[in-house]
Amino acid sequence: MRLSPRVRCRRESPFPVSDTACEFVPAYNRRRVQDAAASRSEESRITLTQFSRSGLALPIRELTLLPIQPVEPTELPHIAAELESRGVRVRLERAVLRPRGAYDAERGQFRAEVLLDAACNVPARPLVAITAADCYAGDLNFVFGIAAPAGGPAVVCLHRLHAGAAPQSFFARVIKEIVHELGHTLGLAHCRDRSCVMHFSNTLADTDAKSELLCSACRKRFQTLNHKPYR
Ligand SMILES: [Zn+2]
Ligand SMILES: [Zn+2]
Repeated sequence: MRLSPRVRCRRESPFPVSDTACEFVPAYNRRRVQDAAASRSEESRITLTQFSRSGLALPIRELTLLPIQPVEPTELPHIAAELESRGVRVRLERAVLRPRGAYDAERGQFRAEVLLDAACNVPARPLVAITAADCYAGDLNFVFGIAAPAGGPAVVCLHRLHAGAAPQSFFARVIKEIVHELGHTLGLAHCRDRSCVMHFSNTLADTDAKSELLCSACRKRFQTLNHKPYR
């Protein structure tokens, strides 16, 4: 079945049945990742060598944040400042209203896939949508984030990242989740290294335990993918 352009960047395989807190699309299409990246301008692109030496978490110099209601307005500038302090220029999109069909009244939660669809409609890439909502996806009780493959957008859900966190550790969690979901959009899968940002977060303890950086193996995987980084 041919997917319409609107839903083309959605996940293409079912979520696994588990009580897990992060999801992505395992069956990403490597060719599409390359094609999407190849369409970016050559200018100001970070080469893999530069990336390896840069200390940046990901080969990204510019990122668009898309607030999806509900949002806490005071949190977004702080998140942007945290990213900018890591060498990433941040562009804040105008907030979009809660998409139709996003709220599941029976569960009192939001459907992350519907938010991801809304993010697909915004052309900027790389793009991470941010929402304060408590979200679930598929058979998962909740998600911290969700990502589309092939250079698509990602969604990070802040609600559960607050649990037991002082402000600074909350924002540290947010940065890790942003980097993690961006890693998926760039073609990275989960990593066994518990300190790697691509390690699967089943709980907040997992998120707190890992760093915000890729391990050396994940950095090398970019080369295996022959990935052309975003600008
Ligand atoms: Zn993940
Ligand atoms: Zn890794």
